[in-house]
Amino acid sequence: MRITFHGATRQITGSAHLLEIDSYRLLLDCGLFDSERIDPSSLNRQLSFDPRALDAVIVSHAHNDHIGRLPFLVKGGYNGPIYTTPATADITSVMLRDSARIQREEVRNAHLRHPHIETPEPLFDLLDVEWVVERLDRVRYNDPREIVPGVTLTYLDAGHILGSAIVQLDYTENGRSRRFVFTGDLGRRNTSLLPDPALVRDIDILVAESTYGNRELDSYDRLMKQLHAIVARATRLQSKIVIPAFSLGRTQRMVFCLQELFAVHKVRPIPIYVDSPLANRLTEIHRDHPDAYTPHARSIMDRDPLYFGSKYVEFCQSWDDSRRLNHLSGPMVFISSSGMCEAGRIRHHLRHVVSDPSCAIVIVSFQAEGTLGRKISEGVERIQILDQWYDLNAAVYVLDGFSGHGDRNDLAWWFEQTGGNIEHAFLVHGEPESMESLSPLLQPHVKSPVVLPELHASYEV
Ligand SMILES: [Zn+2]
Repeated sequence: MRITFHGATRQITGSAHLLEIDSYRLLLDCGLFDSERIDPSSLNRQLSFDPRALDAVIVSHAHNDHIGRLPFLVKGGYNGPIYTTPATADITSVMLRDSARIQREEVRNAHLRHPHIETPEPLFDLLDVEWVVERLDRVRYNDPREIVPGVTLTYLDAGHILGSAIVQLDYTENGRSRRFVFTGDLGRRNTSLLPDPALVRDIDILVAESTYGNRELDSYDRLMKQLHAIVARATRLQSKIVIPAFSLGRTQRMVFCLQELFAVHKVRPIPIYVDSPLANRLTEIHRDHPDAYTPHARSIMDRDPLYFGSKYVEFCQSWDDSRRLNHLSGPMVFISSSGMCEAGRIRHHLRHVVSDPSCAIVIVSFQAEGTLGRKISEGVERIQILDQWYDLNAAVYVLDGFSGHGDRNDLAWWFEQTGGNIEHAFLVHGEPESMESLSPLLQPHVKSPVVLPELHASYEV
């Protein structure tokens, strides 16, 4: 087999890995680099292989850094199957349509701001997305499928977000049975909502993620205690809690954690408002897949008429709904996007709480350098929101253990469970310092040196 890394090399975006087995060419993931920006010179517009020569595309999960360039691939001539789990297929359709809409708006706004400068075309449009949706082929967990002659795909639950999968490929090469495994993004252990990542043994070739390879995150129990204290404070002060959260995964996780707090930890319930139309659509998809959650989570959600919904949770759709929230008095929780506070309705909610010391802002997601969310999490004195400056007086709590990614200990545990004897291993989807810190934990289970590939590097294994 030959493997070539066309993204997520020494960074966390742009997942795309090309496998050549015999005469077949298989692509694992086709994600966006730096998913918020679509500038013309970016790596997003450069495919370093011919999409028409691919035989199959295999998707690990529906985050944009894993699926965001699928329409560009189809626009470039790919017309074969795109394998996903059933939930990933549902989410992919919604995420890509939203991405096409955002790109169209970005282009229109750029043209309005600078009418004399030629505006770059969107990376793809809605029609390209519909072609992707046509090609989605659903494969369930633990249900092996021969996708090209001699190569069998098995998806295993990765516990990262709804539908997320570890990709296992079994094939024969030169008379030897071989097993290739791509972890996709691996979830945390013991997070209550989603199962722990599935374990895989007898691996010959491993490509593993390394996002939090140099970090240890708080345990779920500790996070719940912290969340408990924050809700109790809001109840005591009759104040508001604002949680910036990505629409996919983190929003649903936070709604569930609050439900669990009320149901199991007997915390006095306060109203929760989810204010993001995209999150609302994605939450409906989460309700369509009740088998995805742990028995514990289901026992909590079964008490309410809807999964991810109870009499305490209200999902807001229109702008009028959103504006109305600002006139309500606490205690209450707002969960809104974008997760890094760079766009969307979250900025309007932040404006109303940021200078009030009784209110709280809870950061539960990774915040990139330079974003508004990063500045808030660093506790700067003054911040600019929508062209106005505000004193940051609200209490700020950073609970990044709610991440969908396993930390260094979770990854090390997963590597140990492989049983060792891995012939070749590669680390992807992590910053260099994270990979370098994680590599020694993987090495004892691998016969050859663990590789941290560069962009477009290619290996015969
Ligand atoms: Zn992911």
